[in-house]
Amino acid sequence: MSKRCIPIALALSFTLPLISCVATTEPRFVIDDQSYQSQGKNERINFIVLHYTAEDEPTSLELLTTKNVSAHYLIPSTDNNKIYHLVPDNERAWHAGSGGFAGRTVLNDTSIGIEIVNDGIQLPYRGSLKSQNLAYHPTEHFVDFKEIQVRKIAQLVTDLTKRYDISPKNIIGHSDMAPSRKIDPGAKFPWERLYKEFGIGAWYDEADKQRFMDEEEFTQQSIADIKQALRDYGYQINNTEEWDKPSRNVIYAFQLHFRPDNLSAEIDLETYAILKALNKKYGNQPS
Ligand SMILES: [Zn+2]
Repeated sequence: MSKRCIPIALALSFTLPLISCVATTEPRFVIDDQSYQSQGKNERINFIVLHYTAEDEPTSLELLTTKNVSAHYLIPSTDNNKIYHLVPDNERAWHAGSGGFAGRTVLNDTSIGIEIVNDGIQLPYRGSLKSQNLAYHPTEHFVDFKEIQVRKIAQLVTDLTKRYDISPKNIIGHSDMAPSRKIDPGAKFPWERLYKEFGIGAWYDEADKQRFMDEEEFTQQSIADIKQALRDYGYQINNTEEWDKPSRNVIYAFQLHFRPDNLSAEIDLETYAILKALNKKYGNQPS
């Protein structure tokens, strides 16, 4: 109900019909008629991006709640039953930054970010990270995750994957989407265990890997072919005809995820065979 008054008309001319304040009723439109439903749609949340904080728990909480960086969830390091839910799932958290995966480039828009309290690189080895170039830390430089954290991650990611119907290969590490800037969640993140024990994320079939290793194909592949195979899986990689630093960063990110015990940052037969096995298994799945 509203009232419309036109006193100015009366003031200007007595020849106008007398218009007084009258009550009118605005129609209330139905804005939620769901009798028809579209087929062309998908969940807005398409990715889960996993991180380590590289800080202790109090500092992690402070940074993620008071600065211009955030995540939807924080897995603490203390032995309690908590997972902190810092940003509602339907709002954007600022955790991904520039980069991309599987054809998407603004992952803050389409992902859930999960931070895990973990030191990342052990203190004596951290200095090299401050250099301009990304350091290729070996596996033993990384800090283990706690068992209780792995169990919390498994429960949370399982729940989110079901709720938002997330494709296995879209459960990724920060390094997978930003290989020239990030190395988290690092070589100790238990991707293989999460897949084999909890059915989380993507992992290759060992038999496929062995078969690709036995084939002669690798020696015949050009750099362009191998880079295309990385692109087919979802990685962003340049199209130079060499394994330059940005390209090796992608190999390192791939190995952090799928071959964390042998981090060479160089393409080799086993790395290639794992990549081929993954593309065989997940190649036809929509991202
Ligand atoms: Zn991160």
